[in-house]
Amino acid sequence: MTRSLDDFATAKLAALEAGSLRRRVRQVARGVGAVAVRDGVGLISFSCNDYLNLSQHPAVIEAAVAATRRYGVGAGASRLVTGDHPLYRGLEARLAALKGTADAVVFGSGYLANIGIIPALVGAGDAVFVDELAHACIWAGARLSGAAVVRFGHNDVGDLRRVMAGCGFRRAIVATDGVFSMDGDVAPIDALAVVAAEAGAWLMSDDAHGIGVLDGGRGSPHDGVSLRMGTLSKAVGGYGGYLCASVPVCELIRNRARSFVYTTGLPPGVVAAAAAALDVMAGDAELCARPVRLARMFTGAVGLPEAASPIVPLVLGGAEAALAGQAELEAAGFLVAAIRPPTVPEGTARLRFAFSAAHREADVMRLAEVVRERVMGVA
Ligand code: PMP
Repeated sequence: MTRSLDDFATAKLAALEAGSLRRRVRQVARGVGAVAVRDGVGLISFSCNDYLNLSQHPAVIEAAVAATRRYGVGAGASRLVTGDHPLYRGLEARLAALKGTADAVVFGSGYLANIGIIPALVGAGDAVFVDELAHACIWAGARLSGAAVVRFGHNDVGDLRRVMAGCGFRRAIVATDGVFSMDGDVAPIDALAVVAAEAGAWLMSDDAHGIGVLDGGRGSPHDGVSLRMGTLSKAVGGYGGYLCASVPVCELIRNRARSFVYTTGLPPGVVAAAAAALDVMAGDAELCARPVRLARMFTGAVGLPEAASPIVPLVLGGAEAALAGQAELEAAGFLVAAIRPPTVPEGTARLRFAFSAAHREADVMRLAEVVRERVMGVA
């Protein structure tokens, strides 16, 4: 007999709990700068992707307020119906200029972008080659497309060449993160572009964690990348996703991506905020460089390999170890995310440190000291 739905859910939750894999949505209020308030206690957060602290920038907030006053809170319809308010054009032009493409399309979120773009371009008879550590929404888009989904070893160009040679396809996409969200390393885009081009495949890079913080804000390398995707939800400080590509590709996406066609456009205030945030970035190279500089200060101080991005992982192994590390740091006044399977592979649970322009150097050095003493056990 089928169990009741509640019994099913309760048993599943108990299994997660037993493996230290149960997650809980805990309320965290963002304070000023890098401060987060959890259960009434102020902690310095190293767990937020607002790398440039632009969500709190006065000009960005002002732009959101002004657009909201002028156009209202919601877009009211899909962009193809009547939801394409005038602010989109300016945002897409800024994104295309930043990423060096002729056009750009903005989506409701990065996740929606990936699950829309990939199925709009490939399907049955085609293939998507995905780096094994690529973000969940690339995998989701690839699976939704109905194309064959083939994994290649992380940043392993030789393995990509090998799996592509063993697989017949009509059209193909090679998809990777530009900066890997849980490891902080950067994809070898130049080499991937060569292999993809040789095989007649299109290269797609998800630069969610590179825009705003690498190469003066332009993000991770993108020469040879035909599909330059990313999000407005991290360094850009607000919410939304984008694709920068050629005019025909963007126009096809506007016609075919289901998560563009069948969903309501972003609120006007959110679009205006993103445009204002890109303007702040464009005028402040020092701001864009700061998160990686602080991440490197940290990796130098704790003896980890030099950070390539604002994300630094400290792999601890089991889920319990990651949770214990998180608790130690919380007791010392720091909010740091413990990342466990299935977000990362089994046996690689970790602490993930995200550095922000809002951190003070003294915060970073104090964090390094606590990590060395209480998590790594180094005196
Ligand atoms: N791609 C990557 C690499 C990400 O890390 C994330 C966010 N976790 C996304 C896409 C999804 O972006 P968004 O939060 O805008 O949906």
